[in-house]
Amino acid sequence: MPDPTTDRPADDTGQPFRPAARCCYDRVLPRNLMRPQPLAAPRPGGRARAVAVRGTTWLNGSTLKVRFIGGTASQRATAREEAGWWEAVANLKFEFGNMPNADIRISFDANDGAWSMVGTDARSVPLNQATMNLGFLDGGTAAHEFGHAIGLGHEHSNPEGGIRWNEPVVIAALAGPPNFWDEATVRHNVFRKYSVDQINGTEFDPESIMLYAFPAEWTLNGVATRANEVLSRLDKEFVAGAKMYPRSSPGVAQPLPLAVGAARIEQSIGRPGEEDVFLLKVDAEGVYEIDTRGPTDVYMKLFGPGSPTALIAEDDDSGYGLNPRISKALLPGDYYVQVRHYDRSSGTGRYTIGARRRT
Ligand SMILES: [Zn+2]
Repeated sequence: MPDPTTDRPADDTGQPFRPAARCCYDRVLPRNLMRPQPLAAPRPGGRARAVAVRGTTWLNGSTLKVRFIGGTASQRATAREEAGWWEAVANLKFEFGNMPNADIRISFDANDGAWSMVGTDARSVPLNQATMNLGFLDGGTAAHEFGHAIGLGHEHSNPEGGIRWNEPVVIAALAGPPNFWDEATVRHNVFRKYSVDQINGTEFDPESIMLYAFPAEWTLNGVATRANEVLSRLDKEFVAGAKMYPRSSPGVAQPLPLAVGAARIEQSIGRPGEEDVFLLKVDAEGVYEIDTRGPTDVYMKLFGPGSPTALIAEDDDSGYGLNPRISKALLPGDYYVQVRHYDRSSGTGRYTIGARRRT
């Protein structure tokens, strides 16, 4: 691993380059590759908030294990401090250490920019590889990448953002140091818009830590941003809100018991964004089926064994009507079942849930 203090390219003044714009390459999985989306005009007077990439949030109340791969004491301290900005407002905890099965694994390769897997997508990365790289740590970069790590997308990808890019100018600016991006990379990282149905934010927050800083000449309609180096008020509200990690709900800290073969449990999504977490205790190896029933379009995820951050299955509509059903061979252990409405922006309603052993 290169030493980031000596291995950074220098400009003509001999000073290390500072990124002209904080740009990170987000390694999204194919299922999350976003469709290009024409820009909608921003809604005046609307409530602004950050954007969550649908389906990548961890269980509310989770403790995420974090392991550093290299890095100096000072780099590690910065990463830890800025992770704490999210921890201060969200119902999430970070545990730093050398756990080989850490959920978030951070390298500090100065030649690989700054990027992070988004939320639970980190589970798809082999345990010996990083899920986040902090190639530079200029103001707020670690906080921005930890925003991705807990499931936030880019604020400039908000389809309500109202940014009209001056594409040739942006492509030329990012072709040089420190990014050296080709046109396709710029199109993916900057111009691509998350489609409305894949994110859970609506309005545009110009102060979000999840926004790249860019100058007005990058846009055709004069939209510019300054470098946001701290969490905005709306970042804090959003991440602590019902759709992300609210402290008003215990989440995984107090799961509802879901017994195998017992009578179905009646539950409801009372407020938009709310999630219910159930604890399923499996005593014997076998194939188990968990499903919901009722008129509500809910989405289900299964985590375990023994870990509320290890996603092993998820389903939307394999059951009756719009209900999810998961059938899975399980070893003995504790499993966590998360149920939330498919439409986290406005969906509410009642459902029942049951679990049984099939073989
Ligand atoms: Zn980013």
